[in-house]
Amino acid sequence: MSTRDADVAVIGAGPVGLFAVAALGQVGLSSVVIDALAQAGGQCTALYPEKPIFDIPSRPEISAARLIDDLLLQAAGYAPQYLLGKRVDTVQQRDERFVLGLSHGQSVTAGAVLVAAGAGAFGPNRPPLPGIEAFEGSSVFYAVQSPERFRGKTVVIAGGGDSAADWAVLLAEVAASVTLVHRRAVFRAAPATLAALDRLAGAGRVTLAAPRALKGLIGSAGQISAVILSDDQGGEHAIEADALLCFFGLAKDMSAISGWDLGADRNGIPVEPVGMKTRRAGVFAAGDIAHYPGKLKLILTGFAEAASAAHAARSYLYPERSFHFQYSTSLGKPGPQLTQKEA
Ligand SMILES: Cc1cc2nc3c(=O)[nH]c(=O)nc-3n(C[C@H](O)[C@H](O)[C@H](O)COP(=O)(O)OP(=O)(O)OC[C@H]3O[C@@H](n4cnc5c(N)ncnc54)[C@H](O)[C@@H]3O)c2cc1C
Repeated sequence: MSTRDADVAVIGAGPVGLFAVAALGQVGLSSVVIDALAQAGGQCTALYPEKPIFDIPSRPEISAARLIDDLLLQAAGYAPQYLLGKRVDTVQQRDERFVLGLSHGQSVTAGAVLVAAGAGAFGPNRPPLPGIEAFEGSSVFYAVQSPERFRGKTVVIAGGGDSAADWAVLLAEVAASVTLVHRRAVFRAAPATLAALDRLAGAGRVTLAAPRALKGLIGSAGQISAVILSDDQGGEHAIEADALLCFFGLAKDMSAISGWDLGADRNGIPVEPVGMKTRRAGVFAAGDIAHYPGKLKLILTGFAEAASAAHAARSYLYPERSFHFQYSTSLGKPGPQLTQKEA
């Protein structure tokens, strides 16, 4: 079990959590950023990477994906640590430090916490198959980290959208066989991907099982051996499988945040709009998750909130040190002089 340490733990690597790295760096604070998703970018990356955004100051038009790339570049100057693909489950206090308990057993210690958790932790929509948890991470997956993992395997992919179709095409290159399962006869994917799927199906390299639905799994000790499919007449068929990949979109999960004693409700976490303080000393919130009367859920609002929270976090961590406010130009180009601690 490894532990990371920083001045401030930022929960959420959406646009606001990423800008918080720069805002914290500019007041001399180091950060560690944790996100449940394997990729940074929050809603921008997960929900609308190609969509143009027209209300980012100084950028008449920018795609959501480009905005995230630029924020990552800006953050890089402040040497943040990233822990992606980990959900923060608990936020406890020990000896005036915060200890964050993460999924997969890791932990993070920090002097203060900035919650930039949007609408909650993104996670996969799971198919309701009895006992599926026992196979997750070993033979049932919701994302592909490396196609090589599936070399020579018998792979079943479930889903009807772009991700399922894209991975069926790509894994056909390395897997022993690929079966693509969808509950409707028609797939919704880019025309070029659909054409590639047709070609691969014609060549017998991808089997299209549609309309079919996932019904169950057979296997033991974390390893599936078959996936049971049902057809639209109610018939059931077991097909051999070493791995099942499910692409049913993302769900947002607020359940962890409700346990952090921050008074979170359906609007989010109530904060003082100056300094973005939550009801727990040392815990700040910014972006979509932070709520106060008249709140505008926009990226630019979250940026300003992150800057305000960064200044408040500095006063919280170093109450005895006076802070001379400086513009970023007076501080100079970000670099090692602004970073404090390395893990
Ligand atoms: C279709 C669409 C179009 C939009 N268009 C615009 C627009 O044009 N302009 C605009 O300003 N805004 C727009 N928005 C809104 C904008 O995307 C949000 O305001 C913005 O993403 C909020 O950023 P955030 O960093 O606060 O949260 P998010 O982007 O939601 O990121 C929060 C991150 O925190 C992570 N997280 C949450 N809980 C945990 C936990 N317990 N552990 C680990 N990680 C956790 C999540 O996985 C997520 O990645 C749009 C939204 C949508 C859905």
